[in-house]
Amino acid sequence: MSDEEYNKLLNRAFEKAPDRAAEVSDFKIPKIDMIQQGNKSIIRNLSVIADRARRNPGDIARYVSKELAVPVNIEEQRLIISGKFRDDDLNKRIEKYFEVYVICRECHKPDSHLDVAGRGMFNFVCEACGARYGIKSY
Ligand SMILES: [Zn+2]
Repeated sequence: MSDEEYNKLLNRAFEKAPDRAAEVSDFKIPKIDMIQQGNKSIIRNLSVIADRARRNPGDIARYVSKELAVPVNIEEQRLIISGKFRDDDLNKRIEKYFEVYVICRECHKPDSHLDVAGRGMFNFVCEACGARYGIKSY
């Protein structure tokens, strides 16, 4: 094999290196595990969602409460939501949480944390690529 052929092969290999989308696809936004009890909607896997997001369960609870404009409670690691909500609705809220507050808009990785910036803002800090940007707090 000549050097030229070798370089061509090498270039082709680089072109086939996994791109951003492929890396992101490893990360799955968790689906909620919900039951209805009377007038309450109960997310039973709050701790799984919080672990995946690397956020405190209380942070997720606060976000859900704000999104739905209803009171919520955490009991025995479950999120108790006042009111009847459909699970596809709640899944969409959780997806939005991950998209806005967990997954970096620059590198699309979920390794991040939020600093409180005041005046209704968070500083989103990506630990993977170092991006920092302001987002509306909840
Ligand atoms: Zn990033």
